[in-house]
Amino acid sequence: MARVLFVNAGSEGHLNPTLGVVQELVRRGEEVVYFAADQYRERVESTGAEVITFDVNKFVEAFLAGGRSFWGRAGGLLRTADIVIPSVLEQTKGERFDYMVHDAMFGCGRLLAQMLDLPAINSWTSFAMHPGIFASMRESLSRGVSADEDARAREEFQQIVDHVQATYQVQAGSAYDVFCNPAPLSIVYTSRHFQPDADSFDDTYKFVGPSIAPRSHEAFDFSNVDTDQLIYISLGTVFNQAADFYKLCIAAFADTTYTVILSIGEQTQIAELGDIPANVIVRPYVPQLEVLQRANLFITHGGMNSASEGLYYGVPLIVLPLGSDQPIVARRVAEIGAGVQLNREGLTAEKLREAADYVLHDASMRRACQEVGESFREAGGYHRAVEEIFAYKRLR
Ligand code: UDP
Repeated sequence: MARVLFVNAGSEGHLNPTLGVVQELVRRGEEVVYFAADQYRERVESTGAEVITFDVNKFVEAFLAGGRSFWGRAGGLLRTADIVIPSVLEQTKGERFDYMVHDAMFGCGRLLAQMLDLPAINSWTSFAMHPGIFASMRESLSRGVSADEDARAREEFQQIVDHVQATYQVQAGSAYDVFCNPAPLSIVYTSRHFQPDADSFDDTYKFVGPSIAPRSHEAFDFSNVDTDQLIYISLGTVFNQAADFYKLCIAAFADTTYTVILSIGEQTQIAELGDIPANVIVRPYVPQLEVLQRANLFITHGGMNSASEGLYYGVPLIVLPLGSDQPIVARRVAEIGAGVQLNREGLTAEKLREAADYVLHDASMRRACQEVGESFREAGGYHRAVEEIFAYKRLR
């Protein structure tokens, strides 16, 4: 039995894939202490881990303080060290750990591993990025940022590096290190088939596929839902305040034979959407895995989890990316022919309905999805993740 510190300051998309891993670690005798945002306490506790938490509002404030440019985000990630590090140290005072697992992006895992001198494992809930792929993301995040703003944010980043290094006696490293928290072992929740440029990753990257574990949600009553031609629509859990988009979806499918399940998030009120036709079911949140198992098409923002969960169940996608890793996911989906990418700007109800008709009737897309789904299932999911973690542990 070993004691594991799991550090993950990310939102639901960063958390969900880790739950199966933690549950399996606990089942196999590990003792896990999991650091997560306070709103996820119950969900993580249900895995059998001990949960320690932090104030998510302060964290988000620190992360967003530098703005959305490349250097602004790098600075924001590093600023969160002042929320995460004291909180982890305080809540684990006097405890001993054998190794740690940390999110690839949120939680300053690499810094904590240095401070606690622990063997570390990186948990990638989106595509893995080596410095080459990272450079192209950097380019896209820098687009539209003036040279002045870029220089200012870069200077600020350097000041935060100095502050963090002096305060915690760590090496902050490069912007890549800050964004991606590289570690000697990487668990990536996708397959080599879906990962762009997969051959360029060495054997320390383990592509275990989406980690789909049963979730304990309120049940969804499908007994009166016609699921013959079911379209599921969701923009995920973060940037989902989009009443106009939801209205457009309702208009697109109002007079069709499709049934639509529309998950709108907690921040939009159903009343804002006007009349809801009988073939459209609107909810703030749905058990997505259950819905996807019955869906024929998924209209998604292209969050890595959503896209992977859809493909896992062989559901073709229409991807409407906004920011973050969504454009990369959308591009990859289109590249392998498992769906199409649409631009939210300039989208009309008619265009969306036409795209849906097209994707729903394209046999080659269904085949491509099934192929990806197969590659996901073969990759082994959370069971394989735990095998890889144990193999790594044996070598230390
Ligand atoms: N999700 C869900 N029900 C909903 C909306 C979202 O279960 O009604 C889950 C979904 O299954 C996925 C996660 O929330 O695991 C969203 O993660 P993703 O990476 O797709 O997007 P993000 O929310 O990070 O933008």
